[in-house]
Amino acid sequence: MPAVQHSAGAKVLVTGANGFLALHIVQQLLQQGYSVRGTVRSKAKGEWIRNKFSEFGQKFEFSVVEDITKEGAFDHAVQGVDAVMHTASPVPDGFVGTYDAVYAPAVGSVKSIFNSLKSSPTVKRVSFTSSYVAMVGEHERGYTYSESDWNNGASNWVKEAPHDVPSRMFYFAAKTDAEHTAWNFYEQHKAEVKWDLVTLAPPYIFGPILQDEPNYTANVIYTKAFEQKPADQVGSHAGFWIDVRDCARAHVLSLQKEAAGGERLFIAGGAFKWQDVYDELQSLNMAEIPTDRVEDGDVKDVPDTSKATKILGLHYVSLGECARDTITAILARKSQK
Ligand code: NAP
Repeated sequence: MPAVQHSAGAKVLVTGANGFLALHIVQQLLQQGYSVRGTVRSKAKGEWIRNKFSEFGQKFEFSVVEDITKEGAFDHAVQGVDAVMHTASPVPDGFVGTYDAVYAPAVGSVKSIFNSLKSSPTVKRVSFTSSYVAMVGEHERGYTYSESDWNNGASNWVKEAPHDVPSRMFYFAAKTDAEHTAWNFYEQHKAEVKWDLVTLAPPYIFGPILQDEPNYTANVIYTKAFEQKPADQVGSHAGFWIDVRDCARAHVLSLQKEAAGGERLFIAGGAFKWQDVYDELQSLNMAEIPTDRVEDGDVKDVPDTSKATKILGLHYVSLGECARDTITAILARKSQK
């Protein structure tokens, strides 16, 4: 399947275009010469993006899709585009949500947009934003995660007892089942569709915000640094992280690299403890950043991102650069208020 290059004047549809990650994707696509159509839930959100990227003029347009789960919701938006990036999905604070607010739109939107793409004569590649939470399992600490891991535990739990599961499970199951739905659809229809599928699984996304208000994960570093003190588990493995600029670059590369077609790609800058983040933030010389060191000897899990690195040729910024740029961007927004 041919990859989608900007030199051919390609147009890319980005769903949830006003989101933290999507704004970086839209910006990088426009900077590289692509035209972009973003879907948003309201005209005001679309106009806000158009204003943000006004230097690119008519290269950015938007389409209002109020209910991403509705059958045919994306029929109009997919018309005439060369590639699609489906990033829209609820990311609730603390990943705490309900079946209706989180699971249903995540999975339902995949069904809706893939059905709209079934007979597209123009789309060559579809890139779906999954998550590391679709890979998480119950393993001993020190486990190496790769594309072969699936969070089927969360998925089964929600299927078996949708009204009796811990609320974080809905987000975990939502991302797992949304990605399964995407792959199942593709496997079922790949002989008839003109596009191929790439899924990208990033972990915690940090980094500078382009939107006015920080989203949940960009805000986590800020709240950890400024509102929580070294307390519980600061010295323990906290998870994996990726900078939003690298995550967006991976999405753009997923259109451009022919070898990405048909692949699930795990992307991550590394593993971290909150203590690592505090260490990196010391150079900002801010009294609010805790200086006490807590090291509990906990080993970290390991992200095996070699497949994505090989296929996409991706390089990652350091945790320090990512953490400092996150804080700086959030403080800049706060000072503008
Ligand atoms: P975000 O800033 O909250 O953006 C989410 C986007 O999805 C927004 O455009 C939002 O629109 C849209 N959306 C949410 N619920 C919707 C619904 N029910 N109907 C229609 N649109 C809806 O989140 P993000 O961090 O950029 O996340 C983008 C993607 O990356 C998601 O698929 C997420 O699962 C994935 N991801 C994120 C992280 C992370 O750490 N942030 C990690 C791994 C994967 P509104 O503004 O109108 O709500």
